Amino acid sequence: MSSDKSTPQPEVHEYQAEMQKLLDILVHSLYTEREIFLRELLSNSADALSKVQFLALTSADQLLNPDASLQIELSFDEDKQTITIEDTGCGMTREELIENLGTIASSGTLKFLREAQQSKQAVQNLIGQFGVGFYAVFMVADKVELITRSWGPDSQAWSWNSSGSGQYELAPASKEGRGTKIVLHLKDEAKEFCNEYRLKSIVSKYSNYVPHPIQLKGETINKVTAIWTQSKEEVSQKDYEEFYKQISYDHQPALQHLHLSIDAPIQYYALLYIPQKITNEVLYAREGKGLALYAQKVLIQPQHNGLLPPYLRFVQGVVDSEDLPLNVSRESVQQNALVERIKKSLTTRLLKELQTLADNNSESYNKFWGEFGVLLKEGVSADFGNRRKLMDLLRFNSSLSEGATADVSLKDYVSRMRDEQKEIYYIVGPSRESLQHHPNLEYFRKQSLEVLFLHDHIDDFLMNELRDYDGKAFKSISQADIDVPDPVEDTSQMSTERREVLLHKIKQQLGDRIKDVIASKRLVDSPCSLVNPQENMSAHMERMMKMVNEEYQISKRNLEVNLKHPILQNLAKLTEENPKSEFFGQAVEQLFRSAMLVEGLLDNPTELLPDLYNFMEAATAHQLTS
Ligand code: ADP
Repeated sequence: MSSDKSTPQPEVHEYQAEMQKLLDILVHSLYTEREIFLRELLSNSADALSKVQFLALTSADQLLNPDASLQIELSFDEDKQTITIEDTGCGMTREELIENLGTIASSGTLKFLREAQQSKQAVQNLIGQFGVGFYAVFMVADKVELITRSWGPDSQAWSWNSSGSGQYELAPASKEGRGTKIVLHLKDEAKEFCNEYRLKSIVSKYSNYVPHPIQLKGETINKVTAIWTQSKEEVSQKDYEEFYKQISYDHQPALQHLHLSIDAPIQYYALLYIPQKITNEVLYAREGKGLALYAQKVLIQPQHNGLLPPYLRFVQGVVDSEDLPLNVSRESVQQNALVERIKKSLTTRLLKELQTLADNNSESYNKFWGEFGVLLKEGVSADFGNRRKLMDLLRFNSSLSEGATADVSLKDYVSRMRDEQKEIYYIVGPSRESLQHHPNLEYFRKQSLEVLFLHDHIDDFLMNELRDYDGKAFKSISQADIDVPDPVEDTSQMSTERREVLLHKIKQQLGDRIKDVIASKRLVDSPCSLVNPQENMSAHMERMMKMVNEEYQISKRNLEVNLKHPILQNLAKLTEENPKSEFFGQAVEQLFRSAMLVEGLLDNPTELLPDLYNFMEAATAHQLTS
């Protein structure tokens, strides 16, 4: 390397402790995809070139050798077993070198370390995701020499050398123009990469759409095109897939892409992708990775979060607008009114695309829903303007679904409603299984009235937002004031007086643990059930409240009893014949606790047992005496 011989001894820097750990993981893990080291270096070079492109617009007069063409040169030497990558990008100052290649700067890296330690086999997927790219060189090289000169007019060149074990050396160097040159001394077991065919095929696999020319032996070996500015006819399915792979590092192809070329009222191109799977990053972060924002093919910001609403944060891709002023600063682009308009337009287009997918390919849409549905539910409360469109995209599991998939749209539901049915029925609970056997469902099942099953953690919030669909109000079947089309006939033949006494005695037994005891119009087979006086939260919600706050007091419910049921018939007789019967109280306790159990509101299900044993004792004794 051309470092100046007259320079003083190089400074030796120790790596940060975490950095050493990171290198150990990278060097000693078994990689099936060592070749990605090249992708990482090329994309660093490409980023450095894009930065120069941007600087040329904003600070042209300060740029070192402004006429140097923006390109990456790749070469190799079979005898010396070296690969060299040289770019005319922005280069690095001494401080930047230490910051970028000697310390763990991003929180992503620490996260990478933690995850890598847990899942050894997934390291190569993690590398791209967490931007620890540069260090991937130590998978193939046992020595790396880097020489770089920053873009400013008076910059000094520096060399950086390391063998990836513990320390690196920094020394002043001489270098003609701006940019960075990296020489990799390949390990013996990596010499396969010193091969023209191999290098070309890696470039076409991972770096075909790098937006700057990659030269090998004087020939440009990547496509360089800004694929998003081409017409759809010019781009093949394979091109779309490759581009996605390159921007996302996703190992699976995208579920769907959307290629837009819009002229009015604003001009923009967009190439957007919906991945097949949701990642934890997307699920738990408030913001996604963002879209790359270009102005006339010049990268303005690699990860712009303002181009889509947060609930569409799973979408990846690029946006390029000719209307965006080229010299817009990265800060001001954040608040740019044009960006706001592009966002509105992109959102509409994406929702429309999803609706088309739902209409034409329900299998594919159901897959999408399974992964990203929770985010669209988030959208219902966040994006008032698009609420109706989002509601059409919602999918639910229901009492009529055959399996556990959420495959019922609100449109389906409404089209199946019985003529006399006025409301859309739903029930909230922890799982489909628990809801299927809920006593409150009996009536609806018997009457073939469809009930939506809601068991996502955000469904309670969702239902608070949804008022009606096509003029049909949403109604929880756990509510006390439900108005069913065909109330269950009272065939109990219980006199009004007997009924009043029974209800009164039950209420007396349960005291202030319940709000009221009511003769049910909806129970079919079960003896009783708890329902919500209207203002209360769902049991599901209350369980969650209790999880976060142990002190939380579950609100009081109504106990509905089924007067036709033999248990209630017998209890009515019993209390008439033997008003002081202890057994009556025990039986009522059991009924109440079972109803609490069904709702999942019993703090500790084993507390059922002592009373249950008392109860059985009484029942068995009775068997003996009768
Ligand atoms: P990432 O690219 O994800 O930030 P890397 O470890 O690959 O992580 O690189 C760390 C940083 O080093 C880059 O963000 C960039 O600032 C700097 N860098 C790496 N390669 C170059 C290059 N060829 N030219 C200029 N800067 C570079």
